[in-house]
Amino acid sequence: MEMRSPEIIPTPEHLVKLERLGDEIAEVSAHLDAATARLLDLIRDFDAQEGWGGGFRSCADWLSWRTGLDKGAARERVRVARALATLPRIASAFACGEISYAKVRAVTRVATPETEERLLGVARAGTAAHVERVVRGWRRVDRQAEAQESARQHKSRGLHVYQDDDGMFVIRGRVAPEVGALLQRALEAARETLYQQTRAEARPTDPAQDIPTMAQQHADAMALLAASALHQGLDPGAPGERYQVVVHVDAAALADPDQPGQSVLEDGVRVSAETFRRLACDASRVVMRHDADGRVVEVGARTRTIPPALRRALHHRDRGCRFPGCGLRFGEGHHVRHWAEGGPTTLSNLAMLCRRHHRTVHEEGYQVTRQPDGALQFRRPDGRVLADVPPPVAVPADPVHVLRSRHAGLRIHPRTACPDWHGERLDVGWAIDVLHPRANPLPRRSPIGASEAELP
Ligand SMILES: [Zn+2]
Ligand SMILES: [Zn+2]
Repeated sequence: MEMRSPEIIPTPEHLVKLERLGDEIAEVSAHLDAATARLLDLIRDFDAQEGWGGGFRSCADWLSWRTGLDKGAARERVRVARALATLPRIASAFACGEISYAKVRAVTRVATPETEERLLGVARAGTAAHVERVVRGWRRVDRQAEAQESARQHKSRGLHVYQDDDGMFVIRGRVAPEVGALLQRALEAARETLYQQTRAEARPTDPAQDIPTMAQQHADAMALLAASALHQGLDPGAPGERYQVVVHVDAAALADPDQPGQSVLEDGVRVSAETFRRLACDASRVVMRHDADGRVVEVGARTRTIPPALRRALHHRDRGCRFPGCGLRFGEGHHVRHWAEGGPTTLSNLAMLCRRHHRTVHEEGYQVTRQPDGALQFRRPDGRVLADVPPPVAVPADPVHVLRSRHAGLRIHPRTACPDWHGERLDVGWAIDVLHPRANPLPRRSPIGASEAELP
């Protein structure tokens, strides 16, 4: 049974009122879009200067924390803000309230400086739904072109290692971007290891030696890479097992980060005391007992610092990184009071932090404490509290009035953002053919708003 509301027959005065109400909605919406353009300018500026740095993983995380946007919407705003930096025509139409944020979001997914004029035409002429469909079609063409491009790239991969006349080996190659990035990271890590070793071996009285160039350092690093890869039986290993902390328990001053024995990992890599403490927070641990002469007399079984059951409970309770504004689902267990200082490995002394924020807390001077009521409190390096939720912003009693007066220079009226569309059918395939530079070239016409006779 459907309840029907009693029929209302609108009077002419009522219709006029509704018309005005509709106009006001359209006008305020255009003002909001113009204000959103301004907002994105500010976000772009803030992002470019990394105002979010120090504590936040990304500009979007900061934005979500500071303004209460959900993560997806915050990421989208940062993406659009960045994209608009290279799309001045779309940015200016948006700033005048002529095209809505929804349309700008859609076209910035595909627009380039080369195609922005055409896509701006689509955004002006079509409804939000048209723009969305054109952009989807556009991406299909982009993806096909990309797939062809990456197939071509993949085919061109290769690595040549050959011996030159003088006995030196020459290496030359092309590898996929992700392989290249991996190789770069590995070279960097190996270079760092070699650097630490040389520094540890060099006596301060040594005369200044020739400092090798970056290329020479990378050449040395490659030897270490090859040797350790063969030594490990080419096993990439599980990510959680990368570090094993060797704890020398005879040192009564275990809690003192200046103790030299603490800052050496199993494989001899020297790290800073704080890095060591971070790795030790949640790692495999081998306890070695030393006698008075420093000889190892007993080696305990390897155990996890945080036993699996406790880790499950920690994941269940914290659900993700507890750093304000983060919430990343995967993380490491941080001892609020470090176990080396006598902090227990119990749920109440643990907090989950992602890798990034675990580093923030140990190495970047942020502090975390547990309040008597059980809540975690984070402080910046200068001691200021980093709140879970930032303080509220003062909002004027009539924000729309403020917008209108700020937009005094813009001519915004109920029809500012109206599309030129008059109800014709949109032929997406044809529109893409006409507009996309990589689709079949055809004589250019406006795909929307063309006269009825021109439409196929
Ligand atoms: Zn920690
Ligand atoms: Zn985090």
